[in-house]
Amino acid sequence: MPTVQYPSHAVEALLADGTTAAIRAIGPADHAAVLDLHAERMSEDSRRLRFFGTSRRAPQMTADRLCGPQRPEPLALGAWVDGELVGEADCEPAEDRPEAAELALAVADAWQHRGVGTLLIEHLVHAARERGVRRFEADMLADNLAVRRLFADLGLPVHRRFERGEVRVVVPLEEGAEHYREAVEQRGRTADVASLAALLFPRAVAVVGASRRVGSVGQAVLLKVRGNGFTGDLWAVNPYAQQVAGEPAYQSIATLPGTPDLAVLAVPAEAVPGAAEECGLAGVRALVVLAAGLDADEARQLMHACRRHSMRLVGPNSLGIAQLDPAVRLDAEFGGAAALPGTAGVAVQSGGVGIALLGQLARLGIGVSSFVSLGDKYDVSGNDLLQWWEEDGRTDLALLHLESFGNPRAFSRTARRVTRGMPVLTVDAGRSAAGRRGAASHTAAAATPTVTREALFRQAGITATRSIAELVGTAALLHSQPLPTARGVVAVISNAGGIGILAADACAEAGLDLPVLPASTTAELLELLPEGAGASNPVDTTAAVGPAELACCIDLMTGTRAIDALLVSIVPTALGTGGEHDPLSALLDGPARRRIPVVAVLPDQEAPVRYLTCADGGRLPAYADPAAAARALAHARDRARWLAEPPTAAAVPDTADSAVAQHLAQAFLADHPQGGWLDPKQTVDLLDCYDLPLTTSIWARDEHDVLLAARTLGQLGHEGKSVLKAYWPDQLHKSAAGAVRTGLSGVDEVRAAYREFEAHFGESMAGVVVQPMAAPGLELLAGVVQDQVFGPLVMLGLGGTATDLLDDRTARLAPLTERDLTTMVTELRSAPLLLGRPGTPQVDLAALLRVLAGLSRMATDLPQLAEADLNPLIARPGGLLCVDARVRLEPRPAFDPYLRRLRSPAAAAQE
Ligand code: ADP
Ligand code: MG
Repeated sequence: MPTVQYPSHAVEALLADGTTAAIRAIGPADHAAVLDLHAERMSEDSRRLRFFGTSRRAPQMTADRLCGPQRPEPLALGAWVDGELVGEADCEPAEDRPEAAELALAVADAWQHRGVGTLLIEHLVHAARERGVRRFEADMLADNLAVRRLFADLGLPVHRRFERGEVRVVVPLEEGAEHYREAVEQRGRTADVASLAALLFPRAVAVVGASRRVGSVGQAVLLKVRGNGFTGDLWAVNPYAQQVAGEPAYQSIATLPGTPDLAVLAVPAEAVPGAAEECGLAGVRALVVLAAGLDADEARQLMHACRRHSMRLVGPNSLGIAQLDPAVRLDAEFGGAAALPGTAGVAVQSGGVGIALLGQLARLGIGVSSFVSLGDKYDVSGNDLLQWWEEDGRTDLALLHLESFGNPRAFSRTARRVTRGMPVLTVDAGRSAAGRRGAASHTAAAATPTVTREALFRQAGITATRSIAELVGTAALLHSQPLPTARGVVAVISNAGGIGILAADACAEAGLDLPVLPASTTAELLELLPEGAGASNPVDTTAAVGPAELACCIDLMTGTRAIDALLVSIVPTALGTGGEHDPLSALLDGPARRRIPVVAVLPDQEAPVRYLTCADGGRLPAYADPAAAARALAHARDRARWLAEPPTAAAVPDTADSAVAQHLAQAFLADHPQGGWLDPKQTVDLLDCYDLPLTTSIWARDEHDVLLAARTLGQLGHEGKSVLKAYWPDQLHKSAAGAVRTGLSGVDEVRAAYREFEAHFGESMAGVVVQPMAAPGLELLAGVVQDQVFGPLVMLGLGGTATDLLDDRTARLAPLTERDLTTMVTELRSAPLLLGRPGTPQVDLAALLRVLAGLSRMATDLPQLAEADLNPLIARPGGLLCVDARVRLEPRPAFDPYLRRLRSPAAAAQE
């Protein structure tokens, strides 16, 4: 098994208080720092707890042990903040039992109780697992409460034994994985939110580069911050001016009368790195960078300043941020409109979209809790904001317009959690295939054209709209009306038949259910309504309807259990408009919120959507276009459906040897730093970790071996036949290249096939894969692809030669739930083929679900998995067999799902 060194370069992560710490392996160069940590920066008592006594030589011995030329090296990690070693955790595998490692931990006094120890141990768990360590062991004094608490809260099972004032602790590293993951995730969230407080709840703000020039960005931001009544201290920094727009200006960050939590950098790109470093040195904790067009070098310097000095960063290329909480009232952006304070969280990538969105929300009357224009997203991403809004105690609706959400692997988990508590709306403008251009296998190429991105968003609980207008229209409904039930039966009422029919069409087109009303309801309606009215669905009240009758009609419909949502479409008629006979008053005089959502469609209104204010002061959305109202209702229904599904845990395959799979992936990438396709043998080894049903294959290099293999395997094959496949590195579609010969019986046929391969492919052929001929069945395709937004997806579809022709596929975000497994199968168009007639399934369903669960687990275990393609999986009632599997790995930083870390500066600057 290959040994994997913990990266000697640092990875960065947040401490519990939001400070950025760099974690890396301790080496010989750190001797002085390690000595200093133990000898100078730990009190007598801390040393007693660490070393079980007051030995003077202990610090020196520890520094020698961790930094000396000892073999095998202990696994030692240090945490650095701003270049200073603040803590150390190490473990030394026992000589006779390498699966057990003795753990030690030390944290500088000034840094205790800030999550240094926990973060170090999390990273040590990761590194130790990679080395094959299966449990930590540690002795500690019984009065070492801090460390005992640390172990108790870690999320891993802990076994303790007390003995004469000491506690012996054993921590198995492989048990309780899901619980540990949750604990790590929870700590990550706490740290993330703590780090964002400086950005989104600052007490003092500096505008750096606040210019005297009217119309400059810096001045615009300064004026907005002041004009909107920021409650904290505001300072302008401008080395060339005494005053900017009436504010006293300071020469530099260093000469400010206090330390700003947040600095808005309104300086040109080339001045950004210098200003950022200056801010960092002064103790600023968050930056908003407005400039666009930083070159790679400037980007790197900016990120380094932010990480080194624990600053969170919005931008570059940001329009700014706004925090409208009355306790802060910070409007630090240079858009035209002023946002209303309220409860909607808004994040946009493009500043222009931000301006448009804020303007529309303000016109509609939806207030904003916080607004962030993320720009180029070097650091703060959509994921961060979702977590902030989840915890800020104000936000009850999240609106996003982003091309991506940050780490796609974290996104689907975060989104699935946050959307339980509030609607999260996004605009899915539909992305090009560019992001998937690198992917060449069938599965990869097929992923998103067939599976709508909307469906994937829905799986994460996110409401994906097609335009800003639809986003605002849907927000108007979700923000003012109750959700319908998951059933989502809609009724339409109108005072003009033609209008009602248009609305009914729009509902049907939006996928809403508009059934004929129950006979009893129809009868009651006809009783109420004027002569000539129609009371099926849509209900036509005729223009003669009076407000009182219409109101009764609405009450009746919102009261009956047969209906889950009501669309009321009213046009003004000469009979009543404006006066007391105005049918609209039927809506306005009633309550805004009823048992079910009610929307108005007023085809003659100017605004696409606006709020009507009802008698009780509540608001009812009114749309000009019935299609907009119908889409909003459909989104509300989808959200209700999603909420009605209980959150289920990830599907667990019977077998998953995750550790071995991770080792295999790392070993492959060590040999192929650029990544690539696994060869047939490596493919089998990896897929075996998840018990995927591969057919038997023998790898043969010459005619003799091929004949021998065919003789053995042919006996196992269908009708005693075997299959030969020529192999060369990086091959894609074998049959198209003439590299697959099936149904070979007897020595002569096998030999002839092999010789043809030799003649045709010559030197380029690295060898031949020999397989038994599989019995015919239904050819399916299953696999994993990576999506830039959604992270890993598991796919299922019709495979074999029908793959492209029939285009029948579906996909789910990994990890899949138990429910996902079955719905994937049933939602295929060819489901009847798979399921057969009741009682006579055509395929081994249980085996198929196991394959999907295995793929899901593999996708979650291996961030390096670029694509996996099982095509075909030959399915029969009695079994499932994959005769062709391909796997491609890509170099990625070893991102353990259990590991908290910030994005690397390099990765951030690359995007
Ligand atoms: P590729 O997908 O690269 O063209 P495959 O290995 O999938 O190559 O082979 C192409 C087709 O040949 C498969 O879709 C399947 O129909 C058939 N085939 C391949 N191997 C076997 C086998 N062992 N038993 C039966 N049929 C096979
Ligand atoms: Mg194939």
